[in-house]
Amino acid sequence: MLEATGLMVFYENMLALNNVSISCENNQIVGVFGANSAGKSTLMYTLSGIMEDIKKKEDMAGRERITVLGAIKYLGKDIMGLKPSQRARQGIILCPERRRIFPESTVLENLRIGGYLASPPQKKESLEYVFRIFPALEKIKKRVGGFLSGGEQQMLAIGRALMAQPRLLLLDEPLLGLSPLIQVLLVRSVKEIRDERGVSIIVTEQYARPVLPIVDYAFILENGANTGGAIGQP
Ligand code: ATP
Repeated sequence: MLEATGLMVFYENMLALNNVSISCENNQIVGVFGANSAGKSTLMYTLSGIMEDIKKKEDMAGRERITVLGAIKYLGKDIMGLKPSQRARQGIILCPERRRIFPESTVLENLRIGGYLASPPQKKESLEYVFRIFPALEKIKKRVGGFLSGGEQQMLAIGRALMAQPRLLLLDEPLLGLSPLIQVLLVRSVKEIRDERGVSIIVTEQYARPVLPIVDYAFILENGANTGGAIGQP
């Protein structure tokens, strides 16, 4: 489904991704594990295309300091030059690190924002699904995002991504800062999403252990490179 090869990202002279190649097959959950600053978010921004926007902003400010090289094939086509919105329309949806929900909007408003590209029937169907997979969200649908607990915010962030009808869901450190109990619940939900919706998932984490039971395959990212090793069979 997705195959990225030879990804290189420079922030000025600093090499954040060094010849990284990863792939994700249909219906797979692929892990990307690495320490702080290993390049996990840089990789997710590059796959989702957000890096193109970050780069453009830098270029417009006259700084031209970000360079992105390599190839990304999605459903057999090269998507390297596509904007993040074009990639989203094709089903590549990023659930970013640290949730990034809209703190002043309610749970329901946050979810509706996620579904803005979908048709009304699709929106209705996805919303029902989000409330089925995260029943806690339905109970607090009128509360504003900023007052939710970390776990609720993460459910909302994943729920918002689901509203966009992903075919490939990119989850950037979804367990960060959450209690072990909530982590178990979220990991179970991520597996359910793959099993029930047939969504392929790439998930990054600093600590592999909580997500290992659900990944089909995992890459290790070390100082921006994934030559180090892998877990499982691709
Ligand atoms: P974390 O677990 O801390 O989120 P990460 O694995 O997601 O780490 P990245 O955020 O991708 O790592 O960062 C990789 C490296 O690139 C780090 O050394 C970081 O300081 C650097 N970096 C990230 N974004 C930028 C930027 N906009 N400008 C300059 N350097 C950056």
